[in-house]
Order: sequence, then C-alpha cells, then structure tokens
Amino acid sequence: MPKFWKTPSTTTYATGRSTSSTTASLTTARHSGTSPSTMSEPFSFSGQTGALATMHRKEQVMAPLLQQELGVHILVPQNFNTDEFGTFTRDIERTGDQLSAARLKAEKAMALTGLKLAFASEGSFGCHPLIPSLAYNRELVILLDRRYHLEIVGQATSTATNYSQTQVTNVAAAQAFAEQVGFPTHGLVVMADPQPTAKTVIFKGITTSEQLVEAVTWTLRRFGQAHLETDMRAMHNPTRMKVIAQATQDLIRKTQQRCLNCGYPGFDGVERQPGLPCSGCGLPTDLTLAVLYCCKQCGWQQTVRFPEGQETADPAQCAYCNP
Ligand SMILES: [Zn+2]
Ligand SMILES: [Zn+2]
Repeated sequence: MPKFWKTPSTTTYATGRSTSSTTASLTTARHSGTSPSTMSEPFSFSGQTGALATMHRKEQVMAPLLQQELGVHILVPQNFNTDEFGTFTRDIERTGDQLSAARLKAEKAMALTGLKLAFASEGSFGCHPLIPSLAYNRELVILLDRRYHLEIVGQATSTATNYSQTQVTNVAAAQAFAEQVGFPTHGLVVMADPQPTAKTVIFKGITTSEQLVEAVTWTLRRFGQAHLETDMRAMHNPTRMKVIAQATQDLIRKTQQRCLNCGYPGFDGVERQPGLPCSGCGLPTDLTLAVLYCCKQCGWQQTVRFPEGQETADPAQCAYCNP
C-alpha cells in the first residue's frame, strides 16, 4: 500500500467573509433593567475558555471569529477522534442526525477538557432540496454552555461546493475528475467501492498528483476500478471551510441577540409569517411579513415586521400579478 496516505498535509485557509443570511436587525442590547438585578451583567462569554471539538483544523476559521466577537479563547482537545461520530467516507456511520452529531462532539470535548463551554460543527452534503441537480452543503455550528444551560446553533447553507464522486477505470479519467473538482487545493479520496466498510482501504487526504496516481494505480490493479470522491474534511476543503466560517458568524449573531426581558443569549426567530403585500395589487404574497422571536429561557416573545427591510413585495413574486 502506498505510504503517503496517512501523512497529514498542511494547508492554510483564508477566513471566509460573512454572508450569513441575517433575517432581522434586532437590537443586541442586553438586559433592559426590568428583570432581576442578579442579571446586571448576564451571560458573559468574554474571557472564557471554550473547547472546540475538531481534528480537522476547523479552529483555523472558527477560533479567530469566536475570539474577536465573543472574547472566547479556544482550546482544541488533543487526541480527540471526531471520526468516531461518523465520516464523510461512510466507513463509520454518523451518530444520529446532523445536530445530534454536533451536540455529541461538543459534549465529548467538555468531558475531555473539563470546560463548561464547548463548540463543535457538523457538515452535510447532498442534493439541493429544490434543485436536485445542484450539490448542496449545510453546516451547523453549535455552542454548548453548561453554566447557563445554553445551546445555540448557527447555520449556513451553500451551493458553492465541489462535492462530487466518480468511478474510473484508468488514471487519465481520475486526473480529469481531479481537475474538475479543484484538486490539489481540494483533497481527494480514492477507494475501490463507493459503499465501504470499516475494513475497506480508503486513501484519504490526497493532495498531490503523485499521491493520486499511486492510489488510483494501486486500486485499479487490485479491483479493476476505482471510486473517487472529493475529500470533504475541512482541512482538505477550503470551499467548505468558508461555509463553516459563515455558520460560525451565524452562531455569533444569534449568541449576541439577547432577550430584552431576561438577557438570555440566542434570542432567535422561531416562526416565519408569510403575507408581505404586493406593491402592485396589495394582496398578500408568500414572502415574509414578520418573524416571531422567542426566548428559550423565559418565553418572552417579539414579532419583527418586515425583517428583510422591505414593506412590499415585487409584483413578480405575486400570484395574482404574475400567475
Ligand atoms: Zn428571556
Ligand atoms: Zn400583486
């Protein structure tokens, strides 16, 4: 077997600009003074150390954002095997759904470090829910805080992903695929079968032409075919790393949104109300008229009208004006 495939390679990544879809410009003001005085400086993260559950260098994009925006120092636990919660290469099935996996990783990071604050992220890839021909990436980033019994989830979705697979029977076809998917700045995976088991030989983290040729040649000789796919692990996929940065920005935005009644962080929209009136005929459209926000701690609610800043809808979006 080629020797290279367990050797980690190093790549540096630029932090993606925030493009998270902010749905409302709520005040981020803290406690308004009407609640118990014990909350005069409630729910502070500044100066805290938080564990980040990753072994795929997500700290490269997450740590600077969490440090700058929340004042949290990030600690990455050593020897933390996040693969046990599932791998993109399917040799280890994910534990539960995407959010459960993120939560479990954050809990494990707390257990390993003894810290009461932890962060984790979990990505998923597949077809776009509305346009199946488009590949789609959804990233979740979770904050767990045991001091405040707090769980906040940030999210980003993107069709800017190189997520792709192919079967080849010769090296030239493998090289052609590699060229299409951003190799070598984006890593590749080679294996014989698209449905691997825990025993399947999987060449992960391929980032040089020599490694690619060697892995494909070895697999072809043994099995007569090779299955290639993009390596979706964050450190081998700068496109994904940008979406993780966006999800982190979304998490920070939600964390900074405080309940105006009790100051609890993570004051977020829980229900979208359609009905934004058409500017042509005035009839309600399917576009968002208002978003209902609710505090997970005290249950206080607030309705934010015109969350997108528009008080009417384009007639192109109206079922009457543009049937
Ligand atoms: Zn509240
Ligand atoms: Zn209309």
